[in-house]
Amino acid sequence: MVQVYLLSEAQGLGKEVLGGKGFGLVGMAQAGFPVPPAFIVPTEACRFYLREGAVPGLWEAVEAKMAALEGLVGKRFGRGEGTTPPLLVSVRSGAPVSMPGMMDTILNLGLTLEGVGALARATGNPRFAWDTFRRLVQMYGEVVLGVEPQAFEALLEEAKEKRGVKADTALGAEDLEALSFRFLRLLEERGTPFPMDPWAQLRGAIEAVFRSWQNPRAKAYRRIYGIPEEMGTAVVVQAMVYGNLGEDSGTGVGFTRNPATGEKGLYGEYLRNAQGEDVVAGVRTPEPLEALKAYAPGVYQELLQVAERLERRFRDMQDFEFTVERGRLFLLQTRSGKRTARAAVRIAVEMAEEGLISKEEALLRVEANALPGLLRPAVDREKAPKPLLRGLPASPGAAVGHAAFTNEAVERLSAQGLPAILVRPETTPEDITGMYLSRGILTARGGLTSHAAVVARGLGVPAVVGAEALRVFPEEGRAVAEGVEIREGDLLTLDGGTGEVYLGVVPLLEGGDTGLLGKLLSWAEAHRRLGVRANADTPEDAQKARALGAEGIGLCRTEHMFFAPERLPHMQRLILAADEREEEEALAQLYAFQKEDFKGILRAMDGLPVTVRLLDPPLHEFLPPEEELKKQAEAGDGGAKALLQRAQALKEANPMLGFRGVRLLLLRPKIFHMQLKALLEAARELREEGLDPRPEVMVPLVADPKEVERARALAEELFQEYGPIPFGTMLETPRACLLAGEIAPLVDFFSFGTNDLTQMTFGLSRDDAGRFLPRYLEEGLFPFDPTERLDEKGVGRLLRLAVEEGRRANPRLKLGLCGEHGGEAASVRFVEPLLDYVSASPYRVLTARLAAAQAGLERRKTPLGVE
Ligand code: ADP
Ligand code: MG
Ligand code: MG
Repeated sequence: MVQVYLLSEAQGLGKEVLGGKGFGLVGMAQAGFPVPPAFIVPTEACRFYLREGAVPGLWEAVEAKMAALEGLVGKRFGRGEGTTPPLLVSVRSGAPVSMPGMMDTILNLGLTLEGVGALARATGNPRFAWDTFRRLVQMYGEVVLGVEPQAFEALLEEAKEKRGVKADTALGAEDLEALSFRFLRLLEERGTPFPMDPWAQLRGAIEAVFRSWQNPRAKAYRRIYGIPEEMGTAVVVQAMVYGNLGEDSGTGVGFTRNPATGEKGLYGEYLRNAQGEDVVAGVRTPEPLEALKAYAPGVYQELLQVAERLERRFRDMQDFEFTVERGRLFLLQTRSGKRTARAAVRIAVEMAEEGLISKEEALLRVEANALPGLLRPAVDREKAPKPLLRGLPASPGAAVGHAAFTNEAVERLSAQGLPAILVRPETTPEDITGMYLSRGILTARGGLTSHAAVVARGLGVPAVVGAEALRVFPEEGRAVAEGVEIREGDLLTLDGGTGEVYLGVVPLLEGGDTGLLGKLLSWAEAHRRLGVRANADTPEDAQKARALGAEGIGLCRTEHMFFAPERLPHMQRLILAADEREEEEALAQLYAFQKEDFKGILRAMDGLPVTVRLLDPPLHEFLPPEEELKKQAEAGDGGAKALLQRAQALKEANPMLGFRGVRLLLLRPKIFHMQLKALLEAARELREEGLDPRPEVMVPLVADPKEVERARALAEELFQEYGPIPFGTMLETPRACLLAGEIAPLVDFFSFGTNDLTQMTFGLSRDDAGRFLPRYLEEGLFPFDPTERLDEKGVGRLLRLAVEEGRRANPRLKLGLCGEHGGEAASVRFVEPLLDYVSASPYRVLTARLAAAQAGLERRKTPLGVE
């Protein structure tokens, strides 16, 4: 027997039972906010329904609570009596984790043709009654009966055209009555008639909400945000209040702080004479909340107080929904508001300073993965032309990409590795895949709380919304702005921080402003045990990383130094060398370049460790593409001909598993010698300048202790002359992890190269995974992309084993990680108790620092954590 709870009966129950929406309503009701009476069907019922197709005892329980609701509001469900209108309810979905707009909600439930009359009489407002009814038929038709929204929209457009009006508010009672009947007829024609029975409506709606947990967009959303499939949604059944009763009514969304900047103060949007979804759907462009000051100052004052009280009660920035019914304010939802990374940092820091939360809580509140976004680029306005368009700055960051008008177009572009800008009239939850894959989002309609804006901020995708001069025709694959036509594939630049949109590619500026972030990260240091280094190959990157708090370099890829145009010829000479003399000449040139590079990097990281990885890729990577060589050779270029022959000789079927890494270094020991000598010599020269260089040398791709032994012997030759530096190896083959106990005594450190380790553990190549990985993720075969987030079960198990056996065999062993995962928050949290440091790309150093502190904090909170 499932329990169904009135708001007053649900105190003490959590979000996992009540869903986020129910939980918020219970909290608000308890604190005395004006909340319409409601009851909640818990998530358990949804799980049961999805498993078994029915929930025993549910309808009896619902009927009993409906009777209680009737008592609370003094109206009968679906039945008007005299001057008392019928009780209508909303049936609302609400998952334990916020999934805005992903599932369904139906308003005005319980209304029938008979009820419309009663509602019109009771309110003296037939227009309102018919508006309410046509909305119900439309929503019920879409959500429960599965009719496509466009069918209703077309009829609504038709009605507006007939009247020659633009806004739905300009339709009168008769128009809406006719429209309602047209809607009813549509449903008849489709063989899914609208039920003129309040109770049948209620049952249909509750079951449809249960089912909406499984709709494709909800599934896609859960996949993107890693929300478990099993939870299910709760259902809130709530007495209706009406924002569509006239100009003294309306509906709005408020934030207690600005979700884009974090600035404290009431912020939001309001739409007069409108119901529910109208504000966020971008159907009409809403006005800012401040507008209420002028014509409903009492309501505005009340909203200010509500905002203040909500924050104190829920101790976080709140995003709340409200309705004004004839001047009376009702609260319909509150939840922790989604926010940009910039706002998250500001809110956390300021709330801690206001004493609303502790510094530790502030640290836990910021999503570490979002921090690099704070440094996202912006359009360089000095160099930018006049913008083509202006809209609202909905999600910061600048993006350059090709216009795409549909999900499919975005997917097409992405499949070719091209950045896309999704351009839509407005977005709906159906657009989630396109939004996720695009670099930027542009809409013609909607405000800062529109679907496009909210989702873009959540995804960290730059967005400009409500660019009203834009007309988008998705089915024709084009848009028009200020007389300029934009076709699919045309290049656009947008700046989600300013709301400006440009035709073509516009120069960008790197991001900045880290004042508040600096403060937050300074609080983090006390809780961070794990070291954080950076992956950097140039002095500039090293400097940048150091400024962002990197405590050294965990991975300096030397091959990148050979690709510069003035160096490549020497590398190619080395590859072509026919005898030792030629080889040595080429090496001598490369040595000079390499030594200078090392000096620059060691100088930038003075006093901090710099791990240099010796040559890793196969040699043919340094040769031009075969096609090009062929062309040149045919044109009679002798050099090209030699290179071509060499390229063909070096060609491998599987270069990733071929002649590279330690294999190359051991069989071409002169390269090894040149690189290590350059490093040692660079350090010696810097020491002579009075600096404190701390180089470390690392050998890639080993699979066997013998390889390490041989490499170490080569290194020792030079250590004799220069004195030793830490010598280590990457652990990036499964075999090296399995034999870590044998390798550990031969080295000073391990650095887990989790990019290759992941590829080899899964047997997949990142470069080819694009063919199947997206589908794997879509179908839930993989819970997340293991090239982004460390796979704890498999790769993590190898890592753990290598750590344990390595440490046992060599207690002084240092342990690091230098794959992309070193800058991904969940991966950092996983390795935090296991390793000495992680190394991440410069911007991701911020993520690693915060995630490491968060892991430290959480470890202390759990009983097993021993400090
Ligand atoms: P979502 O989860 O998509 O936000 P909601 O359940 O919050 O869906 O409902 C959609 C819209 O309808 C919201 O704007 C909400 O405020 C409004 N709404 C829901 N229930 C009621 C009600 N009982 N009276 C008036 N408006 C309502
Ligand atoms: Mg809502
Ligand atoms: Mg590698």
